[in-house]
Amino acid sequence: MTARRVRGGLRLRLLLSYLLVVGVALSAVAIGVRLIAPPLFDAILVERTGHGRMVGAAAMSAAMQDATESAFASAMAQAIALGVVVASLAAIVVGLFVTGRIAGPIRRVAEASRRIARGESGARADATGPDEIGELAESFNRMAEALETAEERRVELIGDVAHELRTPLATVRGYLEGLLDGVVEPSETVWAQLHGETARMNRLVEDLQELSRVESGAVTVRADVLAPAELVRGAALAFAPRYQDKGVRLDVDLPERLPAIVADRDRTAQVLANLLANALRYTPEGGAVRLSAAPEGAYLRFQVRDSGLGIPSEHLDRVFDRFYRVDRSRSRAGGGSGIGLTIARALVEAQGGRIRAESAGPARGSTFSFTLPLAG
Ligand code: ADP
Repeated sequence: MTARRVRGGLRLRLLLSYLLVVGVALSAVAIGVRLIAPPLFDAILVERTGHGRMVGAAAMSAAMQDATESAFASAMAQAIALGVVVASLAAIVVGLFVTGRIAGPIRRVAEASRRIARGESGARADATGPDEIGELAESFNRMAEALETAEERRVELIGDVAHELRTPLATVRGYLEGLLDGVVEPSETVWAQLHGETARMNRLVEDLQELSRVESGAVTVRADVLAPAELVRGAALAFAPRYQDKGVRLDVDLPERLPAIVADRDRTAQVLANLLANALRYTPEGGAVRLSAAPEGAYLRFQVRDSGLGIPSEHLDRVFDRFYRVDRSRSRAGGGSGIGLTIARALVEAQGGRIRAESAGPARGSTFSFTLPLAG
């Protein structure tokens, strides 16, 4: 709708406002000249010559005086007319220049926004322009950049989710078709397989739901003063049976006294649980995992070090990315959705901390650690 407005509307209006100012100023001058100048002219004449109007024989004749006044008025009128022409020309030239500098960039921003609305997410406005106008174009471009990134992430996410669901769905479908056709015999193994695949899809959906809650900021993070040793021991206790089952040793290493932290108990427990589950999943039987915590500046660093498969250095930065897995088939077989660490990072950052991964390389173990702010 707005695009239908008079083309160059702003430019025309600005130009007209310039001309209006010129018109008002010169009208004021003309009225002033008409009302004030004649008596003033008389008064100055009397003062300079000592003669007033119609005074004595030496006084200027009335006719002469009228002629002088009319010549004066006509000269003034011509001067004002010339002024009107010159001022209007100046207003038009300056107006065109200034409005061009203002209206041009605004039009370019409007054009870029129309292109983005049409789906050209890469459209940007030329950010050259005077001060605020240039700033407007720059902030518009920043907004466009953020929208484009969000759009890319959305498309990527849909692709990832479809990809993640395809494998378990294909397996379930294959089994069901086999059962229907009588090619596959119903057995414990088949039911277990079907159950496993649906459980995997369920986990994926739950993880995605959690991720979307965390990333959209819908998860509220409490800022309680907590004793870190308690959190560490609680996490170790909860995982002890699973470690025992797999034959992986779990050691807890805590200094005598640890300063309190400001964190959310459940969220911190969730991050620790994720790291302990990963350490267990990627550490073969006979290996060991060490859970520790120690102060580091204004933070406390929690650390989970395992003697497991390790992570090649080129993957270290990416393990926190959504759906990223170092070894797709191995991780998937282990039930991993590739979202756990993404959620963990979002939870740690929401509490004001940082998370990182280190590894000396394949088969040389991995260390995942995160910081949380100390109380006070
Ligand atoms: P997943 O559910 O697949 O484990 P995560 O987001 O928790 O997803 O981890 C992403 C990837 O990081 C995993 O697929 C795995 O390749 C790698 N990874 C995570 N923790 C470890 C670890 N302790 N040792 C080796 N690799 C790990």
